[in-house]
Amino acid sequence: MAQKDRTGIDRRSLLAASAAGGATTLASGGVVLAQAPAAPPAAATPPPASSAVAARAVADLRDPILRISREVWANPERSLHEAKSSAIHIRELQAAGFTITSTGTSGTPTAFIAQWTQGTGGPIIGYLPEYDALPGLGNAAEPRQTPGPTGAEVGHGCGHNMLGAGCTGGAMALKRMMQQAGTAGTIRVYGCASEESQGVKVYMARDGLFDDCDACLAWHPAPIAGTGAIRMAANNSQRIRFRGRTAHAGNNPWDGRSALKAAELFAHGINLMREHVQPTSRLHYIYENAGVAPNIVPDFAQVWLTIRGVDRAQVVAMTEWARQVAEGAALATQTKAEYDLYYGMYDLLPNDTLIAHMHRHLSATPLEWTAEEQAFARACQKEMNLPEAGLATRVLPQLGEISAGGSTDVGDVSYITPVGIFGWPTMPLGVSLHTWAVTACGGMSIGDKGSLNTARILAGAGFDLMTDAALRKAAKDDLVRRRGKTEFVSALRPEQKRPQGIPAFLLKTGEDDAFSGVRSAG
Ligand SMILES: [Zn+2]
Repeated sequence: MAQKDRTGIDRRSLLAASAAGGATTLASGGVVLAQAPAAPPAAATPPPASSAVAARAVADLRDPILRISREVWANPERSLHEAKSSAIHIRELQAAGFTITSTGTSGTPTAFIAQWTQGTGGPIIGYLPEYDALPGLGNAAEPRQTPGPTGAEVGHGCGHNMLGAGCTGGAMALKRMMQQAGTAGTIRVYGCASEESQGVKVYMARDGLFDDCDACLAWHPAPIAGTGAIRMAANNSQRIRFRGRTAHAGNNPWDGRSALKAAELFAHGINLMREHVQPTSRLHYIYENAGVAPNIVPDFAQVWLTIRGVDRAQVVAMTEWARQVAEGAALATQTKAEYDLYYGMYDLLPNDTLIAHMHRHLSATPLEWTAEEQAFARACQKEMNLPEAGLATRVLPQLGEISAGGSTDVGDVSYITPVGIFGWPTMPLGVSLHTWAVTACGGMSIGDKGSLNTARILAGAGFDLMTDAALRKAAKDDLVRRRGKTEFVSALRPEQKRPQGIPAFLLKTGEDDAFSGVRSAG
């Protein structure tokens, strides 16, 4: 039974629509969000003065922002392969006067850092653009499932073309605002590669690259406009390898020791854990290797297991239990188990100060659609057998604290520096992320509006953080209070220098034309 929050929106719908990214997580939709009643008038705080200034800066930068959104959409690249997409961001940032201070950041060839500073001693505000696409979700900018310019194989079904354009565009607009106002400070753009696989933010966080930030800002495409205390889950990813001994499964099975039976016993043990962990936990696994032929006793089997929980402590405890289950399974089957914990993330720590502040900026930003855009949205909904409710036209009231099942690599950042994050509509109500309709809307004017309006919100909020020491302090105080005694310790093993599975062509050393002549930092 779905629980309802004060706005009457059930949690599942909210998560399907939620603001806070975590690409893998938000695919559970198919539910139409009722739009909440209009935000309370009068007593609400007035729109921040920076919002209108940011709108003008974004209007001046319309062309480069839309180039990013559209070119990245037209060149969809899978996670860890985003050579063209990162080069597009780098090209536009350099043209806007930013310095590329790092490429190949934290061992990920398609990650980068760009920076611009004015004056001395000012704050450092970070932006978190992502730009990877998803397999199987290539689609034309049409309201039906049909292959896009590069086919159906890859497409921006999580909307990261707009996510990236909004964040990088927001940074470029903030630079203009700071130049006009003579504001001292540093804008830093973290080129956040590979969010859909092993998000580089986790590696950047482990390497201390957010340590000197005063705050970071980000958003995620959504069917709704909103922000709130959504706690995305912490997680650990692990592979468990079982090794046994082959034998002829007909002639002399007694001489074999089955790695597959160990894997099966392990999975059974994981399933028996479920009742005795917190109901918010998630244990999901696949068999990656289960032998080659039934007449050979398998000497090798591999299970890929993801463990999620509301915070790192729960995940660490469940991981230790799972490790014991693996040892037990090996003992029972006279095989050997290797437990390879290779990636993990923190939960997303809400920042109440920034939630309230971002909400003011959201509320000051128009959510206006043409009749053609609403018709496009309803046509998508019809194709997907969803109620034809069109696109969201109102910002939801600030959302109360809820735990989400999915995860985002922004979580690690949120334990180091205050993070402001929100959702903004780039897809019809009820449409889930990781669907063809997200790709379709992201390649036309609905997506363009998402990129431009979020750049405005991010530039305005960035300007306020640059100029308002009290706002920065309140955000920092919230982080310290929420974090409590938890010390940030990366889930990565110290010897893991880069994500697994980076294609060989991206690991070339020296000059790489994919980076338009930018030198690799290695
Ligand atoms: Zn995403």
